[in-house]
Amino acid sequence: PEFVSVSKLAQLTNVTYQEMADKMEELGFENTSHDHILGSEEAGLIAMEYNFDPTMGAQDEAEAEERDLKALPEPAPEDKEFLPVRPPVVAIMGHVDHGKTTILDYLRKSSIAASEHGGITQHIGAFSVALSSGKTITFLDTPGHAAFLEMRKRGATVTDIIILVVAADDSVKPQTIEAIKHAQSAHVPIIVAVNKIDKEEANVDRVKQDLARHGVEIEDFGGDTQVVPVSGKTGQGIDELEDAAVTLSEILDHRADTEGQVEGWVIEATTKSNGRVATVLVRRGTLKPGTIIVAGKTWTRVRSLRNEAGVVQMSAGPGTPIEVDGWRDQPEAGDEVIQAPNEQKAADVVDFRAELAERIRMAEDMEKINAQRREQQ
Ligand code: GDP
Ligand code: MG
Repeated sequence: PEFVSVSKLAQLTNVTYQEMADKMEELGFENTSHDHILGSEEAGLIAMEYNFDPTMGAQDEAEAEERDLKALPEPAPEDKEFLPVRPPVVAIMGHVDHGKTTILDYLRKSSIAASEHGGITQHIGAFSVALSSGKTITFLDTPGHAAFLEMRKRGATVTDIIILVVAADDSVKPQTIEAIKHAQSAHVPIIVAVNKIDKEEANVDRVKQDLARHGVEIEDFGGDTQVVPVSGKTGQGIDELEDAAVTLSEILDHRADTEGQVEGWVIEATTKSNGRVATVLVRRGTLKPGTIIVAGKTWTRVRSLRNEAGVVQMSAGPGTPIEVDGWRDQPEAGDEVIQAPNEQKAADVVDFRAELAERIRMAEDMEKINAQRREQQ
């Protein structure tokens, strides 16, 4: 892929253009004009002659750029108690076929039915349920997928609570154990939903015993992990499950600043009739039309915000998933979202990130060329 001009490469490697052109001729390059664009492999080949490390300095510059963009520090714990309460973010995990999608669909349908708009059953990665109590819960789908792994790699815990779905007729299985381990290592509390209790083979006690054996401290056995028997099919116990999540989130007391710089995560991204869109889960601040945000290697000045039912919203605060349009390029699930003060800054940050990525690729190509040379010797 096209990467860098000859004169830019000379500048990067700290030699004059003439020196660079001479060296390139020596190496057998035909086109050495200053605006000739080289691929990263070619550029790497030439840069190696100068023992040049393409990422040198760029890493520091990138960090400085990020610091510059991220103006606000995290609030101190003692200040947090004065912030507004936000909805809890709840991820549904569990073994395949134990009923995660069925339970999510039930929750979503009841929430769409409860709103005046609706009828949309498209796949979405995140949605909010407004409860009759006036409280809201945000549910996340498929937390095992790449976006969540990416976020976790960066030390971010997006979820506040995990609902662990275990089928009452199948009990604890490998992915159940995986989810338990994940929750424990990420220090995320669990609520167990023992699903499929409408089935004749259902055995809730066996599930409880198996969970206890795998280190889940069940309430019945003196621990503090709630177990709620449910049926995603009939809806039995789903209200109790919602209540359990609300009660736990009140104990955990999730709060966030609704003012100041917006931060969040891209949960998923796609292209629709209104162009490139991304579902952003706001972590702090309030997203509004006109807000300029950077995500990974792209940015947008928000044109409109839509909730999971496609209804236009005027704002979205912490704990709220919201569809954002107007992206210059396609963002990716797992990208961190940060507000920029103006379009110029957003564009600069994105350019810089792209350049850093190119430099890293060039370094990788140089490493490959070196390895090949070593082999030939
Ligand atoms: P997932 O892989 O965890 O998302 O599981 P699904 O939601 O796709 O459910 C797997 C199968 O179990 C489907 O055939 C569902 O209809 C069925 N199922 C899910 N929940 C229940 C339930 O509460 N009762 C019964 N009888 N079947 C269920
Ligand atoms: Mg599923």
